[in-house]
Amino acid sequence: MSEKMKTLTEPFKIKMVEPLKVTTEEYRKDVLKNAGYNPFLISSKDVFIDFLTDSGTGAMSDKQWSGIMMGDESYAGARSWEHLERVVKDLTGMPYILPTHQGRAAERILYGILGGKDKIFISNTHFDTTRANIEYTGATAIDIIYDEAKNPENDLPFKGNIDLVKLEQLIKEHGKENVAAIVMTVTNNSSGGQPVSMENMLAVRKICNSYHIPMVIDGCRIAENAYFVKHREVGFAKKSCEEIAKQMLRLGDAFVMSAKKDGMVNMGGLLTVKDEALSVKCKNLLIISEGFTTYGGLSGRDMEALAIGLTEVFDEDYLHYRIRSTAYLGEKLKAKGVPVVWPIGGHAVYVDAKKLYNQIPVNEYPGQALVCDLYIKGGIRAVEIGSLMFGKYDEKGALIPATNELVRLAIPRRVYTQSHIDYVLDIFDDILELRNQTKGYKITYEPPFLRHFTARLDKI
Ligand SMILES: *Cc1c(COP(=O)(O)O)cnc(C)c1O
Repeated sequence: MSEKMKTLTEPFKIKMVEPLKVTTEEYRKDVLKNAGYNPFLISSKDVFIDFLTDSGTGAMSDKQWSGIMMGDESYAGARSWEHLERVVKDLTGMPYILPTHQGRAAERILYGILGGKDKIFISNTHFDTTRANIEYTGATAIDIIYDEAKNPENDLPFKGNIDLVKLEQLIKEHGKENVAAIVMTVTNNSSGGQPVSMENMLAVRKICNSYHIPMVIDGCRIAENAYFVKHREVGFAKKSCEEIAKQMLRLGDAFVMSAKKDGMVNMGGLLTVKDEALSVKCKNLLIISEGFTTYGGLSGRDMEALAIGLTEVFDEDYLHYRIRSTAYLGEKLKAKGVPVVWPIGGHAVYVDAKKLYNQIPVNEYPGQALVCDLYIKGGIRAVEIGSLMFGKYDEKGALIPATNELVRLAIPRRVYTQSHIDYVLDIFDDILELRNQTKGYKITYEPPFLRHFTARLDKI
């Protein structure tokens, strides 16, 4: 694709359509009220643009759909399994490939074996399900990104990197024998989809070698990360994104992937390992909990579509469109004066709601106020990543707020066109106009864990 081209056009055309219902503001006000001001409780038929997540929400290609028809559903040694195994071996360079029904199943198996009481895991940032699976074994999960990467405004190329100084300190402090693994999340989902540099990964590999600690790569966005390496890191401009991803994955001892992201499918996961003894333990758990080794948690057609998706994701035109179209939304929002986390990550744009609505105190959930406004004004569904999601209470029942009050606009792969994105930008004009009138929310019902999924709120 020409770099000079002004409009970022989608490198695909549409062969099948899914109609979207156009609703009125009055209708949406009613829907949101009935859902307790929590868009997780809204039916998708009432959503116009769904930015809730990029996980499993992408569109498959004509080749993937024909793969679905060609799926081999044999219990053992299916053709579709052989296809997937070949593609994943080539991508990771690892000899043992285990298919799972989604990313967290791969995590449960791997961390169930590596984890346990008194063990610690160190990561740039553990994703929620990663942390939950590690803590479930009794182990401790520690996140260490660089302090300067925590500021939403610092313009740095690789804000997903792990803090190498703190990493060596922690290993010495806890003793290398207690560190079960170093987990590199690529791109770093929970820190805004920010990339990890090859330099950082090489340095982690060295540390792993000198202390004999295994390195796990949580690489569900490995292709998006490779694009950032190609364009931001010295020495990679001439390499293909696929070559960069292969080089990075060869640094790991194990690889876990939620195929619902860069696997370009709606369901699926992978676990791959280098060590034979570890692979035997993993396979035993796979058979007990997911399925036989040649299908794990997947049907033959799913494996066929995933094998094709893992090839398509490295198409340079696709990746250019993917990363630049996410940035298009973020850059235009910034130009309008909407405070966003900078630079824009791979799969989502994060709006700083505390800054946008500085009249709303954190205990009245400014992030949720923006989520509600986006739905009422435009039928846009986003998710709060702030004190509703991560807030805790002290002994007196006062809110201990989260570090930031963000709203994530996660972009599904190959789903929305530029005019959908321009529509979202128009809605933000309305949001900016009303920013001083917006009021906060209070919680009327909350469950003891993961409250953001089912909490109910009311306007203040
Ligand atoms: C989505 C995700 C997972 C979990 O995968 P699921 O398929 O949702 O189980 C793990 N790690 C990261 C970084 C993710 O983004």
